[in-house]
Amino acid sequence: GIRLENISKQFEGSTAVNQLSLEIADGEFLVLVGPSGCGKSTLLRLLAGLEEVSDGRILLDGTDITAQAPRERNFSMIFQNYALFPHMTVEQNITFGMRMRNEPKDQHQARVDRVAGLLQLEPLLKRKPGKLSGGQRQRVAMARAIVRDPKLFLMDEPLSNLDARLRTEVRDGIMQLHQQLKTSTVYVTHDQMEAMTMADRIAVLDKGHLQQIGAPETLYAHPANLFVAGFIGTPS
Ligand code: ATP
Ligand code: MG
Repeated sequence: GIRLENISKQFEGSTAVNQLSLEIADGEFLVLVGPSGCGKSTLLRLLAGLEEVSDGRILLDGTDITAQAPRERNFSMIFQNYALFPHMTVEQNITFGMRMRNEPKDQHQARVDRVAGLLQLEPLLKRKPGKLSGGQRQRVAMARAIVRDPKLFLMDEPLSNLDARLRTEVRDGIMQLHQQLKTSTVYVTHDQMEAMTMADRIAVLDKGHLQQIGAPETLYAHPANLFVAGFIGTPS
């Protein structure tokens, strides 16, 4: 599992993440929620190694990875504004990140087929991204991120640019992937319904502080404070 010990992140004078500790269990789907500016994206970027922590430690299975570069961590992150390579087919896009790994070719292909199957991308493998819908493109981005078998899968509001129908389609794809592959995941959303339906546990952030972390039912039934009650209880 992954363990954050008292991590903080300061940007010239402002504190984006404030002495935050939490653990992500193997295979867990952890959803991070909180108001705009509370530090969700910063926390993901710290996990990915795209930002350096100002203070604290990050441990992976007991090993301190705080100083490791993004590449060494073998985590995958997908953003709101994902980008596919327009000149490559769907299949080439998916396999792009796998080239570094010294795996036998057939194992490689088996994993591509499995992920493409789970995300219902098989009929699209030979197409170029320009000929895909928004939801299909997002599923390709998802496939590309997960096919490398990352130790941690980080998603920052991956559904936010999609319309309601596509959102359901991609969300189902994400849950299907997770149920099958059980990759530890941290998923950021500001949508409470998404959080309640997808999460093993929800972590509620406010102004860089962790307010509460627990199962959706626990937060709903026993919010630690008014902030959590307001955030989980009130539909947006
Ligand atoms: P949103 O829901 O709007 O995406 P968020 O919870 O992801 O918000 P962050 O992007 O993590 O919030 O930002 C947390 C705080 O840190 C904000 O006050 C933001 O202005 C600040 N911040 C983030 N990145 C930087 C940066 N590179 N330099 C300076 N300040 C930053
Ligand atoms: Mg953000």
